[in-house]
Amino acid sequence: MLTGLGAEPRIVRTPPDLDALDALVLPGGESTTMTLGIEREGLAGPLRELVVGGTPTLATCAGLIVLDRDHLDVLDLTTRRNAFGRQVRSFETDLDLEGVEGGPLRAVFIRAPWVEEHGRDVEVLAEVDGHPVAVRQGDVLAVAFHPELTRDARLHLMLVQTVAKRGTKEPA
Ligand code: GLN
Repeated sequence: MLTGLGAEPRIVRTPPDLDALDALVLPGGESTTMTLGIEREGLAGPLRELVVGGTPTLATCAGLIVLDRDHLDVLDLTTRRNAFGRQVRSFETDLDLEGVEGGPLRAVFIRAPWVEEHGRDVEVLAEVDGHPVAVRQGDVLAVAFHPELTRDARLHLMLVQTVAKRGTKEPA
């Protein structure tokens, strides 16, 4: 999806992979596994620094969990894992996101979390059943669903456009 928008994505596995990144995507997956990998590779500090330092970031599903107060402590919020229930309770819905133009977004929720509680710096962009599932804090956009599983690239485009506004970094 990022390549289709003209970006050059790179997989981050170790701290040197973060060098000169203009933006970061924290994808879905499994937050315990991701947290263990982040600890094993010594990525927690560098990742935190990058995001807190204002690097435009898109976090989806498990990525939202990884950024919460109980994990990397970047977003001023707590999440509830598997909040909608087990795998069979996964679902899709049309979601209107504050600040996203062009009509509702098809949102795919797979054993998704929701935001349980948040501070004042966290802006809620969308809710399901009264629970926040899309939030923004500074230049971090975090959603509980999987925008990469549809053909709708609007959230990825927002990330790429934020970078375009900022200008890109020169490699060290
Ligand atoms: N249930 C997963 C977790 O708790 C998240 C699922 C996902 O990323 N689709 O980490």
